[in-house]
Amino acid sequence: MEEATNAPLFRFTTLKIGGEAGRLCNPSSIEETIELLDHLRKNGEPWHVIGGGSNLLVSSEGVEGTVIRTALITDIKQLDDTLLEAGAGARLPHLAKHAAKLGLSGLEFAVGIPGTVGGAVVMNAGAHGSCIANILESATVFDTKKWQLVTLSNADLNFAYRKSEIDPETQIVLSARFRLPMDKAEAIIERTQHNEDYRWKTQPLSWPNGGSTFTNPQPDRTAGYLLEQSGAKEFREGAAAVSAIHANFVINMGGATSQEVTNLLMRMQDSVYNKFDIRLHPEWKRLGKFSKTELGIWNGQH
Ligand SMILES: Cc1cc2nc3c(=O)[nH]c(=O)nc-3n(C[C@H](O)[C@H](O)[C@H](O)COP(=O)(O)OP(=O)(O)OC[C@H]3O[C@@H](n4cnc5c(N)ncnc54)[C@H](O)[C@@H]3O)c2cc1C
Repeated sequence: MEEATNAPLFRFTTLKIGGEAGRLCNPSSIEETIELLDHLRKNGEPWHVIGGGSNLLVSSEGVEGTVIRTALITDIKQLDDTLLEAGAGARLPHLAKHAAKLGLSGLEFAVGIPGTVGGAVVMNAGAHGSCIANILESATVFDTKKWQLVTLSNADLNFAYRKSEIDPETQIVLSARFRLPMDKAEAIIERTQHNEDYRWKTQPLSWPNGGSTFTNPQPDRTAGYLLEQSGAKEFREGAAAVSAIHANFVINMGGATSQEVTNLLMRMQDSVYNKFDIRLHPEWKRLGKFSKTELGIWNGQH
């Protein structure tokens, strides 16, 4: 298993922000992950799990304990005509294109979501009118409360908008099965390509970014719209700025710190609250050391 001590985490996030992890472990199989968890349990060491780091603000002050990165568990298998199984680390854009070539439909929405299967199940990632909940049959998870592998059905996961029942503090997603109806490969490839092209037109993909910063408070009043109307596109804190292309995207203009980003997030939240009386909630998860004031962004106390 690949592992390193004092590993800089900015390399493993799409925002390119994050201090050192005490230890970073990259298991490449389910067995290696369980062995690692056994070892950590024996030594009473704390751990955290990340996937592609595409929905994550990691503190520039670093992260204590071991970070388990499941991004290398990447196997994809076709189990029957319409059932695909993917390891937690399989990237959604790759999985979407792979499924399209096999003539399996349903993952077209995921081509522009740069996360892994594990993170996508946790977040119920979605776009273009669909989401993981629409295609997931089951997920295999190591549950550290029960200390065993469990298979959770779609119903068990209780999906909602950008939410599932998985608790990344105690459960690690290791693989997932997707039920995908058959269609003509050319048609699926065309829809997939259309969605990918749309991303390049509407998102600041040439800068390091973390995707949508806040969830949409209402389907017809998106966070992007509210932020744009509140003047947020002008906001910048140090090297962290609100994108001029999409007001719900924060970009790292080079060497931004998590502190600069949290200052920016507070301004963004305040501007929408002051104009619309609506409190935006971060879609991003956080990892590592944050001050009490910074944590207010996530717990509604800012
Ligand atoms: C350019 C861009 C566009 C995006 N577009 C979209 C979009 O259209 N729709 C959308 O929904 N999201 C979008 N995102 C956000 C992000 O890609 C998704 O939320 C994705 O599902 C996160 O997956 P990840 O592997 O990167 O998770 P991470 O960011 O690594 O982690 C996210 C959360 O999942 C947990 N986690 C990760 N892996 C595991 C695992 N194996 N087991 C248990 N817990 C785990 C982490 O602890 C954390 O709480 C976008 C991001 C970017 C940068």
